[in-house]
Amino acid sequence: MTISIGVLGAAGRMGQAIIASADAAGVTVKGGVDRVGAITGSFADAASLAAQVDVLVDFSSPAALAAHLAVATDAETPLLIGTTGLGDAHHAAIDQAAAHVAILQTANTSLGVNVLRGLVEQAARVLGTDWDIEIVEMHHRHKLDSPSGTALLLGESANIGREAASATALNRFDRMREGAHEREEGGVYYASLRGGSVAGDHQVIFAGEGERIELGHRAESRAIFAKGALRGAIWLAGKPAGRYTMADALGFA
Ligand code: NAD
Repeated sequence: MTISIGVLGAAGRMGQAIIASADAAGVTVKGGVDRVGAITGSFADAASLAAQVDVLVDFSSPAALAAHLAVATDAETPLLIGTTGLGDAHHAAIDQAAAHVAILQTANTSLGVNVLRGLVEQAARVLGTDWDIEIVEMHHRHKLDSPSGTALLLGESANIGREAASATALNRFDRMREGAHEREEGGVYYASLRGGSVAGDHQVIFAGEGERIELGHRAESRAIFAKGALRGAIWLAGKPAGRYTMADALGFA
């Protein structure tokens, strides 16, 4: 079945990548809107677009989330949210909206990162807190949020693994590591690099006494995120109200 989507944040890097990949994925882009109005198609705003498509795909900004949730809920149109940098209040709003409409929210739509999550969880479960975990990520110079949503997802996977092995896992957050810092056992620490055109590199380092394990993923282009987002949108079409993850869409859950 061919599905139709509306792209929110359509003028952006991800919006454009999704529009460029849609045909190959068998998805019809009926329209795309951004802050300035229609980018592709003839719909002036997200509300008029929502009423005409099977799924809305949102890669815009956390500031736009409330409006996009309202539009999806009003039109009862499933919404895939790829925007990162979401806080607790955003997640609470997504939970509320998901009582009325199907929502898939994920900080990373790529198959590779979702496979990596499972590997990180497995390693953390076996290694416990004797092995320190450091997560290093690098993205292009325009990325606003740090650490990346994907780095936080990988940290969450590590914590899930550790918690399965011990009740004492902590999630310590240390973005800067400036000056004197004692590393706390059980902490997951993050380092963010920004520059150039890097689509997204993530490395999870498990550092033990005398040895290290490094698990990583490198996105060579945004096309992998676009492909995953389209796969997620196809899966989400027609789903009942509820909050879903990329693992659900990929059949990992
Ligand atoms: P970008 O800045 O190139 O594009 C964002 C677009 O959203 C811009 O065109 C901007 O004008 C638009 N926008 C902002 N506020 C808006 C509003 N209120 N209404 C409509 N449009 C609005 O950024 P990008 O690189 O395309 O990334 C977009 C988001 O997707 C970021 O949060 C990024 O971290 C995230 N991202 C997620 C994944 C994933 O796999 N989930 C992958 C890559 C990027």
